[in-house]
Amino acid sequence: MNRSDFPILNQQVHGKPLVYFDNAATSQKPQCVIDAISEAYSTWNANIHRGTHHLSQVATAKHEEARTILANMIGAKSSKEVLFTRGTTEGLNMLAFSFGEAFIRSGDEITVSAMEHHSNIVPWQMLCQRKNAVLRVIPLRDDLTLDLAAYEHLLSPRTKLVSIAHVSNVLGIINPVEEIIRLAHAHNVPVCVDGAQSAPHLPVNVQALDCDFFVCSGHKMYAPTGIGLLYGKEQWLNQLPPYQGGGEMIQHVSWEGTTYNELPYRFEAGTPDYVGSYAWGVAAQYMQQCGIETIAAHEKQLIAYAEQQLNALAAELSSQISRIAIYAAGQKKAGVLSFNIYDAAGNLIHPFDLGTLLDQLGVAVRIGHHCAEPLITHLQVPGTIRISFGLYNTTDEVDLLIAALKRAIQILV
Ligand code: PMP
Repeated sequence: MNRSDFPILNQQVHGKPLVYFDNAATSQKPQCVIDAISEAYSTWNANIHRGTHHLSQVATAKHEEARTILANMIGAKSSKEVLFTRGTTEGLNMLAFSFGEAFIRSGDEITVSAMEHHSNIVPWQMLCQRKNAVLRVIPLRDDLTLDLAAYEHLLSPRTKLVSIAHVSNVLGIINPVEEIIRLAHAHNVPVCVDGAQSAPHLPVNVQALDCDFFVCSGHKMYAPTGIGLLYGKEQWLNQLPPYQGGGEMIQHVSWEGTTYNELPYRFEAGTPDYVGSYAWGVAAQYMQQCGIETIAAHEKQLIAYAEQQLNALAAELSSQISRIAIYAAGQKKAGVLSFNIYDAAGNLIHPFDLGTLLDQLGVAVRIGHHCAEPLITHLQVPGTIRISFGLYNTTDEVDLLIAALKRAIQILV
């Protein structure tokens, strides 16, 4: 893993070396991905699938090769099962619409968890409103892990789909999705896994997980913005109606009606982001060269180190602060860590104030509800400070964060 592959990291912010700890929002891009975009527009850009001419054929081949690379990366049985989307959010909206049209009736239930991102809540709420269905929520235990006993009780003949985050974008907790899927399948209920925060950090194999659907975003995986994927088992995708009409999703169009194309094109209306897919393929190969297991191990070590250093900071500053609350401390996590700091009187130091001062010291973190408002409400705080790692982050940067927090606390307390 070579940090110098990422040109953006080599800069100063407010006169300080940039520490980029906002990878859960989006990752930075290696030079090979930046070059791939430039190469596409400099040498082979043409609209795909419709051309007899050379450039169109090259572009089509690049787009389809990328689909194969990504299908292999997530362990899909066939590249037909990988549909390109604009990102995780669009994948979940596609699924909510198409699955909803095919399978959801009045009184049916869809189950999500209390730690979901809004993208895995709102499309289901909208579907429930359209179909007069009911959204059920798996509660959290005191340690913020999912209450699997309560989940088992929620599964019933009314349950039609479970949609669950693989890794929480606030807590970083790796959810026991294998177990969740096994229990759902015992009731013949399909499961969608929101992999927005797992695919960048962990090896994913959709066949080993046995999930029915899986969504993720390229931009969190060192690829450009505007490209993501929805994986679905072929037997499920074949039962779903298209999400949008137009472009290559058709077989024949006449005034009498339209017949639809085969998988995966049936779900890809309009000109796809073939430059984005190509660059994502390059990013996926870059991750594979680094070794996804190696990335996972490196980031796990960063999380353990950060938790340890935050605890050490709390001990060192015990006269100024009463505690640093690390959420889901010590749980199995990937990529993400959230915390809050309380002053000596036990009052929360507002994460916004800390985030603003950290930025002045060159450290980019995210503060707020992280698009998971129900979880933040459950935590009874206005927000958290979230640090999230990429393959290029280092323990030295964690040390810079700790030094910056120390400065910020001294200013604020
Ligand atoms: N789900 C989770 C768990 C996420 O972390 C995110 C991104 N923050 C999303 C969904 C939405 O991803 P995107 O904005 O790329 O569509």
